[in-house]
Formats: sequence, structure tokens, C-alpha cells
Amino acid sequence: MSDEKKQNSTKTSDEAIKRAAELLLKGATMLNKVCPKCKTPLYKYKGRIICPTCEIEYVIVDNKGEIREKEKENVIKKEMARKRKTEEIRYNEVTETLEMKLQELTEKLEKSQEPKEIEEIARAIKSVGEAIKVLEQ
Ligand SMILES: [Zn+2]
Repeated sequence: MSDEKKQNSTKTSDEAIKRAAELLLKGATMLNKVCPKCKTPLYKYKGRIICPTCEIEYVIVDNKGEIREKEKENVIKKEMARKRKTEEIRYNEVTETLEMKLQELTEKLEKSQEPKEIEEIARAIKSVGEAIKVLEQ
């Protein structure tokens, strides 16, 4: 661990203690649960379950008292949506490239006189065409 990082974590834990103290002063109650990430006791304040160290809000997910990060679901959903979008863009790019290649191959085929070359080009066109079809599904 670098010195800078060490300093940061000391600072963080000081702040965490301060935050925990502030929470208690405001009337928060310490829960008999700990943060799964840092093992700091969690606090309940105004109906919210908070880890003063991570500054994460938790929610109880079932009657056994299982907790998970609040908003995590949303974050995951957002992440998935973003990933989907990037994938779509990538697919579009691939399709465009393939269509360009198909165009090139067609032009080459038109000019070609060599039976062997024609056969090769025709095969290439077929596989490019199939790839486009698959991507567009
Ligand atoms: Zn924590």
C-alpha cells in the first residue's frame, strides 16, 4: 500500500467515526448488523440504514434481515443498459463493415475472369452475407 493510500484510509476512518458520532447525536441507532464491505456497524437513521464508513445506504431485503445496497439494482440496470447500447453500436459497426466488404467483393466478382478466383469470391460473399444475416437477427 502506498503512503498516500495509507493516509487516505486513516483519514477515511477518522471521518467515519465522526460521521457515526454525528449520526448517533442526530438520534440514529446502531444496528446489530455490520456493513458487508467494511464490517463497521450499521446505523439506522430516519428509517434509513447507513454505513458511515462506506457512506452507502442499505435496505433490508427479506424477513431474515438480509441487507443489500440500496440503488444497487438501479446501478446494475443502468450498467446493463449501457452495455447493451455499446454492443448495439458495435454490432452496427460490424454490419456496416461487412456490407462494405460485400460491396467490394461484388465489384471484384464483376471484374474477375478467373474461375478459381470467382469461386473464392463467391464463397466469401456467401459467408459475409450469412454473417450480416446473423447480426441483423
Ligand atoms: Zn461499510
